[in-house]
This record gives sequence, C-alpha cells and structure tokens, in this order.
Amino acid sequence: MRNKILDILKNQQREEFVSGESISQALSITRAAVWKQIQGLKEAGYEIEGQTKKGYRLVKIPCAIDLWALQQELRTQALGRQLFLFEELPSTNDRIKDMARQGGEHGTVVIAKRQTIGHGRMQRVWESPDGGLWLSLLLKPRLSLGDAAKLTLSAGVALAQTLQDLYRLEVRIKWPNDIVIQGRKIAGILGEVAGEWNTVQTLILGIGVNANFSGQTLSPKIPAITLQDILGHEVNLNHLTAELLFNLEKEVQSLEQGDVQGLIQRWTSFAVGINRPVRIEKAGISYGGIFKGIRDNGELVLDQEGQEITFSSGEVSLRAEEQYSPE
Ligand code: ADP
Repeated sequence: MRNKILDILKNQQREEFVSGESISQALSITRAAVWKQIQGLKEAGYEIEGQTKKGYRLVKIPCAIDLWALQQELRTQALGRQLFLFEELPSTNDRIKDMARQGGEHGTVVIAKRQTIGHGRMQRVWESPDGGLWLSLLLKPRLSLGDAAKLTLSAGVALAQTLQDLYRLEVRIKWPNDIVIQGRKIAGILGEVAGEWNTVQTLILGIGVNANFSGQTLSPKIPAITLQDILGHEVNLNHLTAELLFNLEKEVQSLEQGDVQGLIQRWTSFAVGINRPVRIEKAGISYGGIFKGIRDNGELVLDQEGQEITFSSGEVSLRAEEQYSPE
C-alpha cells in the first residue's frame, strides 16, 4: 500500500498535487488510511507537502535506505534486482551466505541499517552504526575461481570511483581493499568465496561505507572518517547504493570479458603508496620495501633492494610509511 501511494505521487507530474480523495479511490482505502500512510512516509524521511484543498505532493525522497527509493534509482541489469533490507543484522555477509546456500540468485543484495557483529578481514570487527551503508552481494560470475577472486579489486575500484564521482573527493585504495580519504578509512570491502554450485563460483562481497554518522561514534583508536564528517551533510544512501551497484556491474562485466589489465590499471590509479616505501606486516614480522604494484592475481609486489617478494592479501597488512597520504 505504502509503495502504491508512492507510485501515484511519483507518477503525478512534478509540481502537481494529488488529492487524498483520488488516492483513496484508486486504492480503495479510506481518506483516514491515506493520511496514516502519508504520516508513515514522512516518518521514514519522505518529504511530502500537504495542502488542504489540493492534496499531497512528493518533494523529496529520504537519505536513509528505503526499498522503494532505491528501486527508483537502480539502473543495473542484475545487481540489486533481488533486494533485502533489514533494520538490523548480526552481519550482512553471514545472511547472504545463508541465501547462497539456499540457491540465491546472482546479484542478490542484502542491506542492514546496522550490524551488530560486522566482520573485517581475519575475524576483525567492522563497526556498523546506523547511518552507514552496510551491504552484501551474492555474485555468480562467469569466471574461474582465480578470476572471481579479483572481484574484491573490482569492488574497490567501483567504490572508489563512485565516491569520487558523486562527491568530488580524492579517494585512494589501500591494498588490498580499504578505501581511504584524507588518510583515513571511509569504507571497507570483504570478499569471501562461498563455494561452488554446478561449477559456478559463488562469491560474497561485503561493502561497508561510513556515510551518515559522525566518525566520533566509532572506537577512538580506529583511523576512520565518514562522508558526513567530510561533506558536512548527509548523503542520499539510495543514490549512493544505486551508483555503486551500477559501477560494480560494469566492473564485473569487464572482468567477464577478460579485461584483467584494465582492472589492474584502474586499481593502480587509485592505490596508495605505489613506488613508495611501505611496510608489510605478516605474522608478526615487518617487511620494508618499495611497493611496486600488484600482479594480475592481486598479490602485492614489494621490492627489497632489487629483490621482488609477493604477498597475498589473506594474512598481511600494508602500512604506508607516509600514512596513506595521496601522492
Ligand atoms: P585492515 O585491512 O585495515 O586490517 P579490515 O578490512 O580487516 O582492516 O577491517 C577491520 C578493521 O577496520 C578493524 O580492526 C578496525 O580497526 C577498523 N574498523 C572497524 N570498523 C570500522 C569502520 N566503520 N570504519 C573504518 N574502520 C573500521
């Protein structure tokens, strides 16, 4: 009912009001029921102008994630066409893994307004308060397992590109896939292989963006920043999600067409510390050297006085000597 009212308000030409009477007739509900629905929409963040004689007019959709608003903005073929929104989940990645086991479709998206036990890599905690974008995706790409693993790089590129385009920010990727602005983490990506069904690889991508909350709500020791901190206002999470999924779908398709080099180039153009001295922490040991870039498989290449050593993302962390600052 709620979405039908939104459809009616949206279909009305801009600037025009729809009378409560015509909504009540179209949907066979009472005027009081229409009024109640409109109040509910306002509470959900929809700006709806009401005038006694003219009726209602939709002025603005909410900044908070809202299924109807997100569906209006989506311009993907597959990603997000199956969409589930929760007020709260322990972890969106865990929920979508369950869906994968039950045969969930390629492109399925789960979003939670907050997570209680969001994960980072290696069992680390990803703090996920209200106002952030906490999203997980189920992907069954036409890719070998080796290439499918590159999708975490694709997600990094899509996310960095989206934040840069929408908000004109200088965005960097810290290997393997932290998204950094002004030297602080604004977003993270967690890729997990969920298994194989009928030889189709199933991947889970978790994406967390610090958006509409203050970075001060996070634990003080975390070097984080939020879009709200930087921009000074809230962003429309529906628009952000739709653009992110659109850019990510393009990246998935380009990988499916075999353009690994294009991906590596785009990734490198965003990377922090290329050709700079960095430190790699692996199992308590710290390796210093020059960060030469990444191989096709995503491994980091470190030059230690002329000798190249590579690291895979699983067990290591990169510390830029110059605190992630852009070149
Ligand atoms: P890294 O690769 O930098 O170790 P992970 O991808 O494993 O990071 O993410 C987990 C880490 O991110 C946590 O240990 C914590 O320091 C940090 N963190 C947790 N929540 C957030 C958040 N909302 N924004 C930025 N950083 C966070």
